[in-house]
Amino acid sequence: MEQSKYKYIYGPVSSWRLGRSLGIDPISSCQKTCTFDCVYCQVGRTEVFSGQREVFVPTEALIHELRSLPDVPIDYITFAGNGEPTLAKNLGEMIRAVKMVRKEKIAVITNASLIHRKDVVEDLLLADLVEAKLDASSDVFLKAVNQSMAEIRWEDIVEGLKAFRKVYHGHLTLQVMFVASNKACAAAIAKIAHQIGPDEVEINTPLRACSVKPLSIEDMEEITAIFRRICGARIKVRSVYEAKREISRPFCQPSTERRRGKES
Ligand code: SF4
Repeated sequence: MEQSKYKYIYGPVSSWRLGRSLGIDPISSCQKTCTFDCVYCQVGRTEVFSGQREVFVPTEALIHELRSLPDVPIDYITFAGNGEPTLAKNLGEMIRAVKMVRKEKIAVITNASLIHRKDVVEDLLLADLVEAKLDASSDVFLKAVNQSMAEIRWEDIVEGLKAFRKVYHGHLTLQVMFVASNKACAAAIAKIAHQIGPDEVEINTPLRACSVKPLSIEDMEEITAIFRRICGARIKVRSVYEAKREISRPFCQPSTERRRGKES
């Protein structure tokens, strides 16, 4: 398959959370564009820091590409990629348009940095599943682990997530990535997760190639136990080391590696 044939879609990739996930990159810029520069980011350093929403990919161009997709089994169509997907001003328009041409459920993977904004919430409400990042228990850890832009405030993220939970009736997952520098925040993040009240919390550590080492199985078991104790039975807690993966073969390897990095 020619690399140039697919500019905006990639995968399907096997996700321990979403099964066979076809990716849509609503940024699709050759430069990674994000509000964060997470120490574990699998697609490399942030080249463009931006908190401004804009149209990166015309919706019609995405739909045109989606219509040419080969017949591959897919569980979810997931908005994620080379940057933060809620930076796409036409995210809601794209979700509506994809729903007109595909039957699969739609997921958005977001770093939640803009979730306090009304226009972002309106777009995310259209998704069947929203997976939101929460790696920090304070602004200090947000700057240390996520290396966020100066104007992004940890409190806005947490209050935004709490408010979003109240209006969102789809499946809300919090994803918490643990590395050495935020390991000690586990109980504090678990308490915040409990207050937010997602359907699920995913405890992760970077197993794909990146610049920091993953935590050990023992560390992750300890952290997972903390979350299960604090979050209670109502919130499902899953850990990456416990997960089983579906096998899936991307129809375009280069476009997939650009958004996902390489397997370590
Ligand atoms: S992991 Fe996600 S939020 Fe963090 S820098 Fe990479 S693209 Fe941005």
